[in-house]
Amino acid sequence: MTSRSKSTGKTTRLSKPVRPAKPARDAKRVAVIGAGITGTTTAYQLVKRGFDVTLFDRQPYAAMETSYANGGQLSASNAEVWNSWATVAKGLKWMLKPGAPLLVNPKPSWHKFSWMAEFMANIPNYERNTIATARLAVEAREQLMEVAEAENIDFNCEKRGILHFYTNEKDFEHGRKVTELLKKGGLEREELSAPQVLETEPALTGNFVGGYLTKTDFTGDIHKYTNALAEACKRLGATLAFATDIRDVAADGNGVTIIHRPAEFHGEATTASHFDDVVVCAGVRSRTLAAKFGDRVNIYPVKGYSLTIHLDTEHDRDAAPWVSLLDDHAKIVSSRLGEDRFRVAGTAEFNGYNRDIRASRIDPLISWCHQLFPGMSTRQYEPWAGLRPMLPTMLPKVERGKNPHVFYNTGHGHLGWTLSAATANIIADAVLEGYAGTTHIAGHDVSNPVTGKAA
Ligand SMILES: Cc1cc2nc3c(=O)[nH]c(=O)nc-3n(C[C@H](O)[C@H](O)[C@H](O)COP(=O)(O)OP(=O)(O)OC[C@H]3O[C@@H](n4cnc5c(N)ncnc54)[C@H](O)[C@@H]3O)c2cc1C
Repeated sequence: MTSRSKSTGKTTRLSKPVRPAKPARDAKRVAVIGAGITGTTTAYQLVKRGFDVTLFDRQPYAAMETSYANGGQLSASNAEVWNSWATVAKGLKWMLKPGAPLLVNPKPSWHKFSWMAEFMANIPNYERNTIATARLAVEAREQLMEVAEAENIDFNCEKRGILHFYTNEKDFEHGRKVTELLKKGGLEREELSAPQVLETEPALTGNFVGGYLTKTDFTGDIHKYTNALAEACKRLGATLAFATDIRDVAADGNGVTIIHRPAEFHGEATTASHFDDVVVCAGVRSRTLAAKFGDRVNIYPVKGYSLTIHLDTEHDRDAAPWVSLLDDHAKIVSSRLGEDRFRVAGTAEFNGYNRDIRASRIDPLISWCHQLFPGMSTRQYEPWAGLRPMLPTMLPKVERGKNPHVFYNTGHGHLGWTLSAATANIIADAVLEGYAGTTHIAGHDVSNPVTGKAA
């Protein structure tokens, strides 16, 4: 178990769980909105601290939206934030190229343009926010494993490290600078020569200039983990209010009212439930809920795609990599999810809230597999698209809102699987102690010099 000091913001270990059993009759009632990875980890940490927790989701099961089929990486090595002029320049070039890693729908929208303006205003914070993210990710990986062990969760965890590989000198050289920043965040990674890249993952085929291996990073199935953790929450006394759509919310000096109805019911009737506190973990929908509480949480849905390839034959299983990969040029990641599944994920699309799966975005992922692992068949795969809940700072919002009963643990962008275990502890402590949340993440000051507010 962990607790967080107000003065340093550092997460510290407690010698015994704060509250391992069912909530007491007079326990404070806390609603958690959203049962993706952020909401489920939050519910778990709250129930462990003795709260009477209700975990809401409009889906019938946990982890059915962005936490369904992501890249699988628990990657402190991917902590580099995207706020840089180099990313902006690449983005402009990619906009004109079909199948490029980034696609921006040119149709104007205030939401998209306000997000992009804030993204650029955060370019001066690139180094500081990269270091803060690395530090948080290092803590989170450890905390995620502690919970997995305590609750006996099997999530196809593969502890073989993550290998970033490069096909051009310019990107490889940039990687060296990132290594220095990651080091400041407490993460070590090893530089590899081209032959060492191929030795590390013999399934790879191609001409590489080098790579970086982070042995302490690992991978696993986010959907399996989240569902098993939701079951653990239930065992510990939480109420799982799934298939329940939150239609409206309000907060005053006495607490929070949540208006909900069964997700598949389309009539007018709704139910109002009262809670002492709420934690908003609603992924890309957190922005709308926050607005109802009078808070601005400028999350944009940044769409990404994945393929889960079924390795049905022994030949395919031998031809697919085991070490998790990150192709820094193509912005594609891969993870082996046990013997017979291989996950490939990537691309970023600024195209509103639609989750349609487009062939033109799936094809580059298939070509990537054929090019790098020519012996592995892609005969059987499941395509998927999800919306990353991305804030322009690229740091999650882990703090209290304007109303003292409203808290946020949301906006984890491309790193929700990596960071959630730590942010759940931070926000559960904030609810427990009633303090205003954090301008410090993992002991690092991340208050935003642009707005003067916590990121
Ligand atoms: C292609 C892709 C690859 C990725 N790869 C990685 C990776 O390798 N490593 C990594 O760390 N991260 C990765 N990510 C990011 C990671 O998957 C996300 O950050 C994370 O899943 C977000 O979790 P969440 O709980 O915030 O959101 P979600 O999982 O979307 O959960 C939010 C929940 O809120 C519910 N909800 C919303 N509104 C309401 C309402 N009104 N009423 C009731 N319920 C509501 C939704 O139903 C949903 O279940 C990837 C993302 C994508 C798209």
